[in-house]
Amino acid sequence: MVDQALGHTIGKRPGGSVAPNMADYDQARARFSWAAAREELAGLPGGGVNIAHEAVDRHLGGPLAGTPALRLLGKRGDVRELTYAQLGQETDRFANVLRVLGVRRGERVFVLAGRIPELYVAALGTLKHGSVFSPLFSAFGPEPIEQRLRLGDARVLVTTPALYSRKVAQLRDRLPELAHVLLVGDEQEIAGIPGVEDFRGLMRSVDDSCEIAATAAEDVALLHFTSGTTGMPKGAVHVHEAAVAHRATGRIVLDLHERDVFWCTADPGWVTGTSYGIIAPLTLGVTSIVDEAEFDADRWYRILQDERVTVWYTAPTALRMLMRIGAEVAREYDLSALRFIASVGEPLNPEVVEWGREAFGMPVHDNWWQTETGGIMIANYRSMDVRPGSMGRPLPGIEAAVARRDANGRAVLRGDGSLELVESPEEQGELVLRPGWPSMFRGYLGEQARYQRCFAGGWYLTGDLVRRDADGYFWFVGRGDDVIKSAGHLIGPFEVESALLAHPAVAEAGVIGKPDPVAGEVVKAFVALKPGHEPDEELRRELLGFARQRLGAAVAPREIEIVSSVPRNRSGKIMRRLLKARELGLPEGDISTLEGGS
Ligand code: ATP
Ligand code: MG
Repeated sequence: MVDQALGHTIGKRPGGSVAPNMADYDQARARFSWAAAREELAGLPGGGVNIAHEAVDRHLGGPLAGTPALRLLGKRGDVRELTYAQLGQETDRFANVLRVLGVRRGERVFVLAGRIPELYVAALGTLKHGSVFSPLFSAFGPEPIEQRLRLGDARVLVTTPALYSRKVAQLRDRLPELAHVLLVGDEQEIAGIPGVEDFRGLMRSVDDSCEIAATAAEDVALLHFTSGTTGMPKGAVHVHEAAVAHRATGRIVLDLHERDVFWCTADPGWVTGTSYGIIAPLTLGVTSIVDEAEFDADRWYRILQDERVTVWYTAPTALRMLMRIGAEVAREYDLSALRFIASVGEPLNPEVVEWGREAFGMPVHDNWWQTETGGIMIANYRSMDVRPGSMGRPLPGIEAAVARRDANGRAVLRGDGSLELVESPEEQGELVLRPGWPSMFRGYLGEQARYQRCFAGGWYLTGDLVRRDADGYFWFVGRGDDVIKSAGHLIGPFEVESALLAHPAVAEAGVIGKPDPVAGEVVKAFVALKPGHEPDEELRRELLGFARQRLGAAVAPREIEIVSSVPRNRSGKIMRRLLKARELGLPEGDISTLEGGS
């Protein structure tokens, strides 16, 4: 790897003159086929598919070999750059390390680390070797780490001396299957720790070229744990074929062009940070920015400016935090390279879309997907008008519909076994997708029955409630579990949160249903304020009135509580189930993914 001072080696920015990859949605939808998208892959020389081949090796013989694949911005200002050629060698080395250690194909390699170069090398090297990559968020405490390593039958763990000593060493006795722990760090320090091996020493001891494993399309490649927003995280299993969807969505939704400078701010501990923080951009010959540090408004603007980021993929909470400090701040930076901004993970409030226009001169494009879908399914596209507050329209190749739910929240099946779908626009129901796209999960690890319950009448049930307007745009209503039933109305917390967010004093809002003897449930909102606002009774009343005026008495919160912050998990999602448990004095349940938690 080459250490470099902060500076620019990246070619001319594509700029605003770049034509969108998808010029016309309806036309693209009519013409699209997954078989044709599959043809876009290089494929392994001997047949079969390997994600790492698509991400790295396919570029090595051509003009992209010398292009930076990853620019890794260290916490302390150090920058490391890996060209596609260098990434090819490093990932070959790691595949060889696994071979030397006797790891077998299909066995699980976990990484527990911050966004350091070795994380990326280990991810892709694991795939080259034919074993299964599973990322863990470095902020996890020992319990969630143990839970996931155990569930995933971890064979190898790559981590750092500090994380190992603080979180893993104490678990070793209970993890007999974990044969190898490779530490990235100081050689001397590692030598003094029993039961571990030196990552860098091993990398030096092997060859920098290997024969990539002849993986088949259906071979397991990735194990991703869900965010744990609604309960205990589930382990979603993905296969090498997923690369078809990663590449297609990178092109169609994120509008990635060769040599773009792309920044996906998600940590690979979450599926976004792997599908779009590692795989998709590399399959398209893009330079990916990786920032090791956590969110900091000034640092983020500086990265967008100095790296001349062209496409930026981030999350609503980050955008809301930037919004909190004002659009003027954004305008102090030269963000002229930026061509496209996308957001995922949570509903994107219409205010944030509009704020994007003000701060960056372009709207933020919301898109929707899940760990289970492996890639983006519904999106606002560059060539299509954004409807603020809407998730957009289904990806070409994806059939999405709205299923009617019964009083227990289950999709309604007709006598012939088919699903009862909602046809009239504006009526809400569960978002369902027709299975068969390449990045679809192939199972929940160790939970076959639960996996099967996700399907009914030939559809995949997402668990999210939506409505579809007359033009086919989907609007997020809420997670099935979060929806509030109040005096006969079904209320999505997002709608109420967005209304509160429109008030100038409100920075964050989380809304739950609180049991009520008369109404069944009443709406309660927890609100965090922007700096400079006093959390007094007068403001609380003002907010109640403000919400009632916007939403009407049936939907507006009956209660508002001003809090210092709203609990979120590490992928930035509001944890409403935790707000509810606390409100009702119930057990908090699994909080392994809570930010600031473990
Ligand atoms: P768990 O399944 O463990 O409760 P999770 O569902 O939050 O956690 P993820 O797979 O990371 O785990 O998140 C997917 C979910 O995030 C979606 O089902 C949806 O509820 C929400 N989501 C993602 N993107 C959007 C979006 N653009 N708009 C609204 N909701 C979104
Ligand atoms: Mg989920």
